[in-house]
Amino acid sequence: GAAAEPPPKLVLDLERLGELEGVEVAPLARYAATIQAQRGDYNGKVLSIRKDDLRTLAVIYDERPSVLADRLVAWGVLNADAAEAVTDEE
Ligand code: C2E
Ligand code: C2E
Ligand code: C2E
Repeated sequence: GAAAEPPPKLVLDLERLGELEGVEVAPLARYAATIQAQRGDYNGKVLSIRKDDLRTLAVIYDERPSVLADRLVAWGVLNADAAEAVTDEE
């Protein structure tokens, strides 16, 4: 049944991220670039990230994870179905 479904993955749109400019976007862009470098994953149009990474980014942005997730969706860099599954509990 639906209860056994895994939560949707957090997927960053790297092409959209590359189009955005400004100080607000810079920490996310650096973080994504670091993950790409650690994986050696340079050719993707998208990047699947860990839930823990969104929590780390929420600390960097000084927002609750759910608020940051909604903002990333508004920027067009995060899939909306994954953002809906983000909760602020540990
Ligand atoms: P690590 O966390 O010790 O993971 C070692 C390897 O286990 C990874 O090599 C990958 O092949 C696999 N692995 C670990 N967790 C997952 C997972 O959730 N899904 C998949 N598909 N594979 C997983 P890889 O990809 O070359 O990454 C090397 C190191 O780079 C990782 O060592 C970790 O320290 C860092 N890293 C890579 N991607 C991420 C990320 O999305 N977030 C964070 N925080 N670190 C990452
Ligand atoms: P999916 O997770 O829905 O990903 C669909 C496609 O999005 C992938 O096709 C790939 O082109 C792209 N994609 C998603 N995340 C990343 C990323 O972090 N880096 C890059 N470079 N591309 C990404 P692909 O590679 O043919 O994989 C098809 C399906 O195979 C994936 O669907 C997933 O279900 C599975 N898969 C592939 N690699 C892994 C993996 O490391 N771990 C797990 N658990 N499944 C994987
Ligand atoms: P995925 O590969 O389909 O993994 C889904 C979930 O299974 C991960 O969610 C994590 O909870 C667990 N998992 C998979 N492999 C490992 C592992 O080697 N060690 C541990 N401790 N847990 C594992 P999570 O962390 O939210 O990651 C979401 C997606 O982000 C992964 O989907 C994968 O596409 C990507 N990812 C995360 N970390 C890495 C990494 O180190 N390397 C690569 N290549 N991809 C990663």
